[in-house]
Amino acid sequence: MADRSAKILVCSGVNGRINGFIDYLESMFTESGDYDYVFCIGNFFGDEENSENEWKQFLDSGKTGKQGIITSSEGLTIGFISGIQGPFQGIKCEMHEFNCESLEMFKKCFVRSEKKLDILLTSPWPTDVYNNDNTNNISFSKENLDTKCVSNLLSWIAINVTPNYHFSGMQGIYYERTPYKSPNNQITRFIALGNYYNINEPETNPKPKWFYDFILKKKKLIAPKDTIVTTNSPYSATFEYCVQPISKEYFTKISASDRALRIQKFKERSNQTSEGKTDVCLLCWSNQTSANKHMIVSTGDLVYLAGSKSPLVQENLFISTIGHYKSFNRISKIGQFEVNMFKLSLIKYFQSSGRQVVFFEQNIMSTHFNLQAIPVPVSNNMIDRIKCAFIAKFKEHGLNLEPIYEKALLYKMITSEGYFYLELPERKYYLYTTYNKDNTEFPSLIAREVLASKSLLDIEDRIDEKNCTKDISEETKDIETFKVAFKVFNKFKEVEKE
Ligand SMILES: [Zn+2]
Repeated sequence: MADRSAKILVCSGVNGRINGFIDYLESMFTESGDYDYVFCIGNFFGDEENSENEWKQFLDSGKTGKQGIITSSEGLTIGFISGIQGPFQGIKCEMHEFNCESLEMFKKCFVRSEKKLDILLTSPWPTDVYNNDNTNNISFSKENLDTKCVSNLLSWIAINVTPNYHFSGMQGIYYERTPYKSPNNQITRFIALGNYYNINEPETNPKPKWFYDFILKKKKLIAPKDTIVTTNSPYSATFEYCVQPISKEYFTKISASDRALRIQKFKERSNQTSEGKTDVCLLCWSNQTSANKHMIVSTGDLVYLAGSKSPLVQENLFISTIGHYKSFNRISKIGQFEVNMFKLSLIKYFQSSGRQVVFFEQNIMSTHFNLQAIPVPVSNNMIDRIKCAFIAKFKEHGLNLEPIYEKALLYKMITSEGYFYLELPERKYYLYTTYNKDNTEFPSLIAREVLASKSLLDIEDRIDEKNCTKDISEETKDIETFKVAFKVFNKFKEVEKE
């Protein structure tokens, strides 16, 4: 029988020092013989100006592509995902990014192959990978990890494909995690490598281990199970790593925590917080009467989607919570996850009809969370013009609407008393916070004023909500039409007309 083993070298963080790196490899090969495979993870081309072009040329010339699964002549299955995590809103992925959709494709490709994954190569670390590892084994400070080089989508992929080996780079840290056992009994070794060339501290000496060489045999991938120490999976069953569901078989063994999750959901639903509750809140599910029930499109466990009673434009929708929660930052993680699912569906729906969507939440002088979704045409730099118009209008009122980096967003929301949140396509987020300010002065129709203005949608007569009401039969007809069109994009239960 042919020798089914392969000599493998995994390297990380070449950072543009390609010639030096190749020289290094050649001398290494002279010393210890050739390798069957050399894989590079982390930043290969560096951040120099034409690196994007080099990247493109490399991808054009190579046959592998941005991600994929290859089977070696020895029968080893190797999966690779290049780049860093891109925007959650799956509109467009840059050359160097992956997102939920691209990884969903990767997963499908893996499932179709009907193979076990021997090696998974990714650049960022999967979120939470160090959880459940013995602290003595961790020599780095979790707080100091570069958040751009950590990805929850990669945790989701690791959960779904349970590789034997998972290599990551980018943090400049060498970390060989204690092998972990997934609930499906698969054992994974996670190994993070340092950089071959460290951009920020080229002088670091000795540098953290940046390569890993080993021999993989197809039939005997890892030592017999009783001789190696393993931990439980680092990934949590209750944390949402991705908007896509996690494959059922992975968590079958942790039905206890699944039950806890169900109980928590039930509690949230039945035991709604009473914060700031007025007698009749028109957004609370329990107060939905025949006057507005027909406006509800769809519902998850904690969150629902409905049409506006005074729409600025056709198909002006909003996302709200079933229970009485003041704002997005007060909703549980599960609730926030459902909000994000609805958002993604709306983005895709509007995209399908050549529109894009503006979201805003005005958590000022309001007692119940609602996120407005307003479709706008894709034309003449519409998004840029909307951004400028919002900032200018806020300035007119002496208010500062600031762009916020995605990761800092929730933190800023949590630390502010009230806020106005604006989300534009392509990862553009803006926040105005009312910390220590007099909220009663806030111009409550500001978003409608901006969007309806002559230079944007040019529908100024619709700023006043009273001018936008329709009778119930008309409302019902519009919502039913929307439901039909939205059906294929909706991930939640449609609410039937009564
Ligand atoms: Zn309410």
